[in-house]
Amino acid sequence: MGRRLTEFLTPSSSSKFRLSLVAALAVASLLLAAALLHPESPFFSLPLRLALSSRRPRIYDPTCDSRAVHRSYSANNYHRTPSPQPSPYLLAKLRDYESLHRRCGPLSESIDPTLNPREFRTDDCKFVVYSPSQGLGNRILGLSSTFLYALLTNRVLLVDFGPDMEDLFCEPFPNSTWYLPETFPFLFQLQTHRFRASYSYGNLLKKKEEEQNKGGKIDQDGDSSSSPALLQIFLQDKYNEYDKLFFKDENQGFVERVPWLVLIHDGYFIPCLFQMQSFRSELEKLFPDQETVFHHLVKYLFSPSNQAWGHITGFYEAYLAKAEQRIGFQIRVFEPKQTPFTAVMKQITSCTQKHRLILPQSDEVTLRNGTSKSILVASLSRKYYEEIDWMYGRRRRQATGIAVYQASHEGKQHSGDNSHNMKAWMDIYLLSTSDVLVTSSMSTFGYVAAGIAGVKPWIVMIPDPYHPRGADESACERAINLEPCFHFPPWFAYPDPPGTGGPVGRCEDVSWGLKLVGGHKTRR
Ligand code: GDP
Repeated sequence: MGRRLTEFLTPSSSSKFRLSLVAALAVASLLLAAALLHPESPFFSLPLRLALSSRRPRIYDPTCDSRAVHRSYSANNYHRTPSPQPSPYLLAKLRDYESLHRRCGPLSESIDPTLNPREFRTDDCKFVVYSPSQGLGNRILGLSSTFLYALLTNRVLLVDFGPDMEDLFCEPFPNSTWYLPETFPFLFQLQTHRFRASYSYGNLLKKKEEEQNKGGKIDQDGDSSSSPALLQIFLQDKYNEYDKLFFKDENQGFVERVPWLVLIHDGYFIPCLFQMQSFRSELEKLFPDQETVFHHLVKYLFSPSNQAWGHITGFYEAYLAKAEQRIGFQIRVFEPKQTPFTAVMKQITSCTQKHRLILPQSDEVTLRNGTSKSILVASLSRKYYEEIDWMYGRRRRQATGIAVYQASHEGKQHSGDNSHNMKAWMDIYLLSTSDVLVTSSMSTFGYVAAGIAGVKPWIVMIPDPYHPRGADESACERAINLEPCFHFPPWFAYPDPPGTGGPVGRCEDVSWGLKLVGGHKTRR
């Protein structure tokens, strides 16, 4: 028993055998790698699929504890500012969307997950897949924009969330799921260079231009059999001139015929949709008030999961619920090493003092009124919390009735970390319970908190080592509405000229960005 194989072999035959064994193993590994990595292979994403096969099935949870509070329009315990009502047309559109999602979504018969991507067609169902990158604020903006694009184009929205997004939100669509089926051939491969090279719309336009020299236009009249089954639409900050042509009306006809779109982006591109004739009139019907578009989308899509809601309400009840006024500070410094702490604090204090955001008149008046205030400081760093606590809380709590709190201080942004994202979601949501919000320039984290809160934030201009501001510029500006800024509009998207009543204008905090300004006709 157990005799070694070499006992049966002469010394020379033993080494030959070893050599051939090594060669055979090398060939087998090469073949296996080729089978796993070739994009056309049905095993393309097998390792990831196997890694994820233990994920529990997903479905809409009717017991989502936060949904009633989160979607409510009247003031409630958490949000004291009543919400603007959505239009009846938007509500009807959402109900239609929900039935489309049920009919075509992952739990229906419409998706055949065994299909080869090149043949990945479905009769009357079309899809748009959102693949996230960057931080949670960016993701929420990106997903909201993708959902609106899905509503406008009658596509079903599916998400390619990884384990780091586990259990943050309740599923929004009744009796269905928004998760891309695990058998989708490109699960988690959607952002790779290889996928982009094979499926990017920008590359397709570039190739066509090279071939036909027709100025980046694709034959718009062909039938659906002549268009690809799947296209990646790459709209991240580094998108190129060809990728940007997605926002041209004349290219939507072609895109419309493609059954599967994969959107890779992380911004709030909705102002550009308003600039497209293809969508403008439908958007105006959906959102007669063009300054609450994000507010309605974020309330509909992102109710905290029961787990997240447990963390949020636990902190809220312990520290914030009883305060007569809640003030939220969201302090985001993109380049902490190059940005002096004192310079940031100077901007924050100038803003709060000038606009009397914390102490309306004087400590004595506050004391006489017996006001109790909670200040929540959301920041990656603990230093800002300590400083604000020193200024208003610890030192003078007796006099001012102010208490200062921080729910987490993660030090730096992590990627691919579920518990880090959970803390970020908790901070965003806790900020949204503020009556007064002070946010940071250029931060999508702050845009989302303000959008959920329904409170126009004071945006502090955080010093930027690469774009120093003039000495005469104010420390902060009050946002004109709840709309986020789109930081990377294409070169052909301009703000509407002031006074024309067009819906798109400049952002308060990013001079090259665009935002919906609705009725603010005189905005820069
Ligand atoms: P932006 O970079 O400020 O536009 O916001 P994002 O949310 O897109 O990315 C920043 C990420 O850094 C967040 O998603 C968090 O992971 C982390 N982060 C930044 N600020 C905070 C904060 O105040 N609290 C927590 N918990 N995390 C934060």
